[in-house]
Amino acid sequence: MTIGAAFDRTVARFAEREALVVREQGLRFTWAELAAAVDRCARAFIALGLQPGERLGIWAPNRAEWTIAQFASAKAGVVLVNINPAYRLSELEYALKQSGCRWLICADTFKSSDYHGMLGELLPELAASAIGALQSHMLPELRGVISLGAQPADGMLGWQQLQALAEQVGAEQLRECGERLQFDEPINIQYTSGTTGFPKGATLSHYNILNNGYLVGESLGLSEHDRLVIPVPLYHCFGMVMGNLGCLTHGTTMIYPSAAFEPLAALQAVAEERASALYGVPTMFIAMLDHPERGGFDLSSLRTGIMAGATCPIEVMKRVIAEMHMKEVQIAYGMTETSPVSTQTGPSDDLERRVTSVGRTQPHLESKIVDEHGRIVPRGTIGELCTRGYSVMLGYWNNPEATREALDGARWMHTGDLATMDAEGYIRIVGRNKDMIIRGGENVYPREVEEFLFTHPAVADVQVIGVPDSKYGEEIVAWVKLHPGQAVEPEALRSYCKGRIAHFKTPRHIKFVDDFPMTISGKVQKFRMREISVLELG
Ligand code: ATP
Ligand code: MG
Repeated sequence: MTIGAAFDRTVARFAEREALVVREQGLRFTWAELAAAVDRCARAFIALGLQPGERLGIWAPNRAEWTIAQFASAKAGVVLVNINPAYRLSELEYALKQSGCRWLICADTFKSSDYHGMLGELLPELAASAIGALQSHMLPELRGVISLGAQPADGMLGWQQLQALAEQVGAEQLRECGERLQFDEPINIQYTSGTTGFPKGATLSHYNILNNGYLVGESLGLSEHDRLVIPVPLYHCFGMVMGNLGCLTHGTTMIYPSAAFEPLAALQAVAEERASALYGVPTMFIAMLDHPERGGFDLSSLRTGIMAGATCPIEVMKRVIAEMHMKEVQIAYGMTETSPVSTQTGPSDDLERRVTSVGRTQPHLESKIVDEHGRIVPRGTIGELCTRGYSVMLGYWNNPEATREALDGARWMHTGDLATMDAEGYIRIVGRNKDMIIRGGENVYPREVEEFLFTHPAVADVQVIGVPDSKYGEEIVAWVKLHPGQAVEPEALRSYCKGRIAHFKTPRHIKFVDDFPMTISGKVQKFRMREISVLELG
């Protein structure tokens, strides 16, 4: 089934139920209303001349038009290219050029960034060109820019103007276009988060992401009676697949608290919308748990949700269950290249497993853990996790070399994550192989040290990295965020480690911080932490 067909099915079943709530824009749609907006937009894309298989970029934070464009492009067979709203000119240019976008949808401003101004710099020809007739030296394939702003800059097509073009294309034409689409064709290019370096464009089909959204929702037991708060970015698969497609395939209401994550807005959305489910990466849950006004919000409507995207600390999971009423919260693990989820804890797993493992392999997928020669290791032994099955990407867009490195001849995706699997198939993620520290010949997994430091009552969040050291090869550095109003000396934290973890795992340096360097999807960029610590420690 294509995403468009799945959309029509949900609309037919749940027409009058609420589909989408966008709190910052004050917008609410039933499925029937959303269908009207999506079909109009899909016809407008056809009127613009966008052909099935051509690429359409979207560079905007969470808002209604993002989702309308997501479903409309799927109906028209146009490949949506998710562009991180935090990208600046060079990254934007790279993504547009690399994916060969025909059109770009953009916000006007966001936070302190002036998107129109940046585009003016990148595309000086735009202002003087007729709509749809852009000829850019830098980006020869790009025909034009659609602005979501109330005042599109010169040469840009406004969102409302775009919608008016739908008159030129009949409903019949859209239906015929939909019937020609194949479920295994590319429909989405998603760039990876850029946690370890430069983002790569994973090419995903209807089949990949629609089924992944469906199975994630199945595991949560989502239905048309659920209301899911989505504070994670839509440009990332957590938002657009686990969020939007998870809701679409179960008739669940999608609720966006704010354009970009704000803990207060997310808490408010849960309480005021009586939400039953909530998503977030660990840093988001920590920010919500520690928010001084949390106690003022009634979160008792919450039942379930997902914490994923990065290591989910055990202490944080326990607090989410106890303090946010999310008794059925699940951990999911995966990556953009696998649509994204490949393992998930389940409703029947006991508490211990739900907070310490990333669950078992999703139906219709396989996992294996291998050593550096590609041999499967015994249960319980650390090795690289590999994934195979329906959700594995078609490949990296226009990058056969990177595709060959990640996907072997038998279509196993090599994740770059170190993990163990127990006798019953539960998987524990130990860390990324790039982040593993080798100190004096001993392998130190940052996660283990982080989990230990989390047990100190003053510690709110902690990240551990290795930096080069002339004596030991690498030394351990911990960046620590304390709970509000707490104070501890580095030496006190080090002596807390003494006798409780091996001496070679004890951080040599401790740095107190208010924040970590992060991607916009809320992931800590350890490579940036390393750069900073290396400079500071000389
Ligand atoms: P890049 O590939 O550009 O460096 P990225 O790997 O962070 O960025 P994503 O595809 O968004 O990009 O994230 C996938 C990665 O996130 C996984 O490979 C894994 O390292 C980490 N991850 C996801 N879920 C979990 C989890 N539940 N526990 C631990 N790590 C996780
Ligand atoms: Mg990755």
